[in-house]
Amino acid sequence: MESKALYIHIPFCKKKCYYCDFPSFCGKDHLTKNYIEALSEEIISRASKFNISTIFIGGGTPTFLNYEEILTLGKTIEKLNIVQDCEFTVECNPGTLTKEKLKALKQIGVNRLSIGLQSTHNNHLKAIGRIHTYEEFKSNYYLARELGFNNISIDLIFALPDETLEEWRSDILEVIKMEPEHISCYSLIIEEGTPFHKLYNMGKLNLPDEEVEREMYRSTLELLTKAGYEQYEISNFSKKNKESKHNLVYWTLKDYIGCGTGAHSYIQGMRYRNVETIEEYINLMNTRENAMVESHKNSIEDDIEEFIFMGMRKIKGIDEKEFKNRFGREIDELYRDVIIKYESEKLLERKNGRIFFTERGVELSNRVLTDFILDK
Ligand code: SF4
Repeated sequence: MESKALYIHIPFCKKKCYYCDFPSFCGKDHLTKNYIEALSEEIISRASKFNISTIFIGGGTPTFLNYEEILTLGKTIEKLNIVQDCEFTVECNPGTLTKEKLKALKQIGVNRLSIGLQSTHNNHLKAIGRIHTYEEFKSNYYLARELGFNNISIDLIFALPDETLEEWRSDILEVIKMEPEHISCYSLIIEEGTPFHKLYNMGKLNLPDEEVEREMYRSTLELLTKAGYEQYEISNFSKKNKESKHNLVYWTLKDYIGCGTGAHSYIQGMRYRNVETIEEYINLMNTRENAMVESHKNSIEDDIEEFIFMGMRKIKGIDEKEFKNRFGREIDELYRDVIIKYESEKLLERKNGRIFFTERGVELSNRVLTDFILDK
């Protein structure tokens, strides 16, 4: 039986953060029970024919679910063919996490937590619309440790409004003290349709300028590397052998099944997307036992671009041999000139059959990657 990664989406949030454009909703508490029932049906019908190598429950806020709902979801997952060393991650939001829920997560086999902290400064947490304080995060984190979770990732966001370089450096230093196995550091992106986008357009968002943002990124690298974390992806750092196996599936363009509202799947060169709203999802699952509203056969060019765009996010870049095996042609046939150009600008390096960004290349990766778009 083939192995696949499984993503499960929980679209509920207590309150919407001001920067967030993820498919998540608040004020829909009355739908959680029906949603979990519909979701369980989808998981069984789509995932039970495969071996499941990684599971990631994301959101939204998976820990918005109550104890019983977590256990119900666990009972569904239990019916799948889960490989022995399956990485099973759940995203947690401090402010929704309790001892009871952590115990339920442990009981259903979760072996990795990804906790969204974002900042250690309460004024910034409040300003970006988070529902928790740094103190609440810390008590959740240490409680999880006490209960035996030995693989925890912490998410941080830099370049927040009014944030200084010193504040960001202190965020990192604080988090290092807690010794999580994995740390993700993303820069704030102002997404359309969010309250921050509105404020930005009105000139009311005081964001750090580009040079400060770059310094923040450099500090991240410097401090985390010094503390023994290895950068394995543009925004992700881990202790040895603690990389996120699930996310590596995306970055290496392997197959994954996505269940729940708005979830995407990639299976044997086909992309699928589920309906976004909770009500429609429940309705579709109840009436036709399928919530997919879009499917798309990736062209070979789409696959090549995705392979490059996702693969180059990894610090070790892409494997030339793998490119040849997947696409039946040498990478030079398509990209020779681009590779030579950026090698000479010292933004790309080619070594031992791999192509990857240099440290400066990582900072300018968006500019470089646009040249990898194929004429179609
Ligand atoms: S908790 Fe996460 S998913 Fe929910 S609104 Fe905030 S950032 Fe978005």
